[in-house]
Amino acid sequence: MSHIEQALSEIRAQLTERTRLVAVSKFHPAEMIEEAYRCGQRIFGESHVQELQEKHAILPDDIEWHFIGHLQTNKVKYIAPYVSLIHSVDSPRLLHEIDRQGARFDRRIPCLLQLHIAREETKFGFSPEELIEYLQTDDWRALAHVELRGLMCMASNVDDEAQIDGEFALAYSLFQRIKGTFFSDDASFCECSWGMSGDYLIALRHGSTLIRVGSMIFGERDYNAH
Ligand SMILES: *Cc1c(COP(=O)(O)O)cnc(C)c1O
Repeated sequence: MSHIEQALSEIRAQLTERTRLVAVSKFHPAEMIEEAYRCGQRIFGESHVQELQEKHAILPDDIEWHFIGHLQTNKVKYIAPYVSLIHSVDSPRLLHEIDRQGARFDRRIPCLLQLHIAREETKFGFSPEELIEYLQTDDWRALAHVELRGLMCMASNVDDEAQIDGEFALAYSLFQRIKGTFFSDDASFCECSWGMSGDYLIALRHGSTLIRVGSMIFGERDYNAH
């Protein structure tokens, strides 16, 4: 068994029916994606538009491409025709641009709103207060070409499991509150994207429906390759 095959089966063994695995392939070559594909993996996550464009062009059509990184508004147009889910919507402005591009390509683009609860100051996303305030404006309700499907968040990059546990618990309670307040009649608002290589087992205890796992499957990333 290859390392990729072994890691995929180890992760899958932990998942219940409600949770899907996004294999985060950023900075890894197409050959590694093909190998995971041969093991049955169909959902891949990328965080740079150009890299995603290159991979999408050469890899099988039945791959579901998820965008998980910070997305600049001027680049939405490139991925709008085919992206399956944008996890990282971190501003109303970006949401509006995704809606505009969805209209151009005659589709509703599935999106998650990115929540910022980690300690790190540099991470993108709405704070819990900002998110609730924004949802109360009703601005998003007029956007016919985006489909809001749930929330995404990253925990603090720390070893303290209790800290991570608390952050995912907060994310899940916010999800439930937001679902009940704004999306109670919308069954498609159902996704909780949290959990990475180091913390997905904790995330699974707090309602995660999508885990985004990279290095555990593909190994360390070589950031100099791009
Ligand atoms: C890179 C990345 C991941 C995967 O991280 P690993 O620690 O390699 O599993 C998950 N989510 C986001 C948003 C990322 O940028």
